[in-house]
Amino acid sequence: MESQERLNLKDKKRIVIKIGSSSLTHAGTGELNLMKIEKLIRILSDLRGQGKDVVLVSSGAIAAGRQALGHHKRPDSLAEKQAFAAVGQARLMMVYQKLCAEYNQTAAQVLLTKDTMVNDASRYNAQNTFEELLNLGAIPIVNENDTVSTSEIPYVDSFGDNDRLSAIVAALIGADLLILLSDIDGLYTDDPRQNPGAEFISLVPEITKELLSMGKGTSGSDVGTGGMSAKLAAARIATDSGADMVIANGDHVEAVLDIIAGAKMGTLFLAHPNLDFDLMHYLNNEY
Ligand code: GLU
Repeated sequence: MESQERLNLKDKKRIVIKIGSSSLTHAGTGELNLMKIEKLIRILSDLRGQGKDVVLVSSGAIAAGRQALGHHKRPDSLAEKQAFAAVGQARLMMVYQKLCAEYNQTAAQVLLTKDTMVNDASRYNAQNTFEELLNLGAIPIVNENDTVSTSEIPYVDSFGDNDRLSAIVAALIGADLLILLSDIDGLYTDDPRQNPGAEFISLVPEITKELLSMGKGTSGSDVGTGGMSAKLAAARIATDSGADMVIANGDHVEAVLDIIAGAKMGTLFLAHPNLDFDLMHYLNNEY
C-alpha cells in the first residue's frame, strides 16, 4: 500500500521545502555549504521547470550571521541573536538571489512574524502576496523575521522554529506537499542517536498520541532549533491542512527529487484534511 502513496507524490503541484541550519552549514566550520545550497537551488529550479509551485523555508540566518561576525558559539542574548540574524539573513538572500539568477529563476524574500500571522488582515495580505509571487513564477524564500521576533518565549510570541513555520506556510498557501530536510533520516520509535534499537517509521497514516510521545524535544546539532517534537507539531499542522509531509535527511538534497519521484525515503505523513481546519487554532497552539 505504501508504494501507491509514495507514487502519489509525483502529482503534487505546490511544494514547500524547509531546510534547517545544520543542513545548510558545514559541521566543522559553520560556514555556509555553498555546494549544497547550489544543488538545492538547481533542484528547486527544475521543479519550477516541471510546472510546480515551489516555496523554500530556509533557516540559517542566525548561523550565517554568527559566522560572518566571527562568533563561533551559539548566541547568548536575544539582542545578539537578532543582530546575527540581521547580518545573516542578508547574506543568505545574496547567495540565494545569485544562484536563482544562474538558473533563470527569481528569488523573493518573505519574512514573517507570529504577530502578523495572528492578525487577520496581515495574514490575508501575506496569503495574497504568496499567491501573486507564485503566479509571477518567483520562488518565495521564507524565514521568521528574527531581527524583530526572536523571542525568549518560543511559541507564545514567535513561531519557535522553522519546522512549524514551514507547516504554517504550507497551510496558508494550500500546499499539497511539505518536505522537511533535517539532520535525521525521519521518525524513529526512539532517538536513534541514543538507542541503537530504535526502529525507523516509513509511513504515518495518522498522528496518534502514542506517536507524539515519541518526539524528542532536543535538536542533535549545535545550530538550528527544531527537534523531533517540533517536526511532529509541523506534521500535525500540515496534514490537518491537507498536505502530505515528508521528513528526510538533508545531507543529500537530491532526496527532494527522489521523494517527489515516489522513492521510499524519509518518513511520509499522510494528509487527512480536517474540514474544520482553522489556522488560527494552530497559531495559538489550541490543538
Ligand atoms: N529562523 C532561524 C534562522 O534563520 C532558524 C530557526 C530554526 O532553525 O528553526 O536562523
